[in-house]
Amino acid sequence: MKILLATSEMAPFAKTGGLADVAGALPKALAALGHEVAVVMPLYGSIDRAALGATLLFPEVRVDLPTGGRSLAVWTAPLPGTPAGAPVTVYLIEDDGLFNRPQLYGEDGRDYPDNALRFAYFCMAALWMIKGLVWKPDIIHCNDWQTALIPIYLANRPDMQNDPDLTAIRILFTIHNLSYQGLFPKQTLDLLGLPPLLFNSEQLEFFDNLNLLKGALVFSHHLTTVSKQYAKEIQTAEFGCGLEGVLRQRADRLTGILNGIDNVEWNPETDKNLPAKFSRADKKNKALSKAAVQKHFGLPVDPKPVLLAVISRLANQKGLDLLVDVLPGLLSDEHVQFVLLGTGQPEYHEFFTLLAERYPTRVGIELGFNNALAHQIEAGADVFLMPSRFEPCGLNQFYSLRYGTVPIVRKVGGLADSIVNIGAADSISSGKATGYVFGPYKPKPLADSINKAIALFRGDRKAWEKLMDNGMAQDFSWTRSAKEYDKLMKLMLRAEK
Ligand code: ADP
Repeated sequence: MKILLATSEMAPFAKTGGLADVAGALPKALAALGHEVAVVMPLYGSIDRAALGATLLFPEVRVDLPTGGRSLAVWTAPLPGTPAGAPVTVYLIEDDGLFNRPQLYGEDGRDYPDNALRFAYFCMAALWMIKGLVWKPDIIHCNDWQTALIPIYLANRPDMQNDPDLTAIRILFTIHNLSYQGLFPKQTLDLLGLPPLLFNSEQLEFFDNLNLLKGALVFSHHLTTVSKQYAKEIQTAEFGCGLEGVLRQRADRLTGILNGIDNVEWNPETDKNLPAKFSRADKKNKALSKAAVQKHFGLPVDPKPVLLAVISRLANQKGLDLLVDVLPGLLSDEHVQFVLLGTGQPEYHEFFTLLAERYPTRVGIELGFNNALAHQIEAGADVFLMPSRFEPCGLNQFYSLRYGTVPIVRKVGGLADSIVNIGAADSISSGKATGYVFGPYKPKPLADSINKAIALFRGDRKAWEKLMDNGMAQDFSWTRSAKEYDKLMKLMLRAEK
């Protein structure tokens, strides 16, 4: 199959969250299965063309929208880390006015006001680019609202519906997070080059606003989301963000496929970010990572305290208000340390800054994005906390397992699908249990889980090490998930339109 993955971010070129990790890893795994895979994404100002060996492919792809015509350029670069036998080409859409900005989507907590147009030009350029390519994709795999206009344009613009290079293309659309929908004032529709009739409650209208994600849910051939549990949850009012009705209507075309992780990038046996490597068979150097993290955050370097960690966007989704409730109580114990790496909502910046001031020997925080430190924390922590309100898949729990760090997670979405709670007394010794899973979104169940973990960490070192070992034995690599995508895409190509 020829697969073109369309995305607004991809590691290592540009990343704000888990989508980038998926976009960087899934193409490699699909290519390894024998498919011809390419990626199309915007050429952001932060992407260093020279370093990537990018070359100019098309100097001008003309895109006409009611707001005006623009000429976008297309560059190509190889995706780093792909084997010579299964290369992945990245097409980078260049338009300095649209994409050469300090951030990807907005600054100072505010989205760029022209985001609808930025991604409209991107989507249309990605489609018209295909006309110039000898290589024509069978499937475009779109991701999140920034690529929603690809299925919407293909299904609704006569120039595209009748274009022989485009009509056969099937669209697979993956929802990475339903709470980001591409919502815009209804007048925006006039700027996007789409029939005004689409503004109705069955298609692009959402409570009198324009909702691009909704359009993608309606017009794509098949939908996936990033865990089986989240695929069920988003069909309910509690998790559906107002789109549960549309998703229920399309339930027969909605599949949950758990994300995998890049096992090469996240591997304690080869990780260059760590002071010393370790493995499942020989875990002792994990202690050096713990010491390095304590040192980095100015905490006492001591193996005895339990080191709790969070790496996260500081957004309501992530259950940080539960931590706000629970942490002060836990930190009265001098043998509890807590470190946090994250950036996001100002109220959380303020809370964690104050917490670190109050407990300088027990709390370390870094408010920013720091990939190397994220690796070090995954390796150095004893316990990783993910008390999310909702979590489509989550990636850090996988990294934690791989680095022998015990996850404590809430029973939602991909967290529920990936962590096995310590239940029956023998579940650690049987090799099944991998962490602590709590249910109700309340401080007490979280605090109880953390206290249980601390008790085991202190009271039964052998059981704790077995628990770490159970996690390190798990395989959440992309190979398995890529096979599910492979199967689904083959079915899509066989199915009637
Ligand atoms: P989401 O996509 O909702 O942010 P995920 O758990 O799916 O959450 O993915 C988050 C990714 O971003 C992980 O790879 C995580 O390590 C990384 N990450 C989040 N915040 C930071 C940060 N401040 N510094 C470095 N990496 C971060």
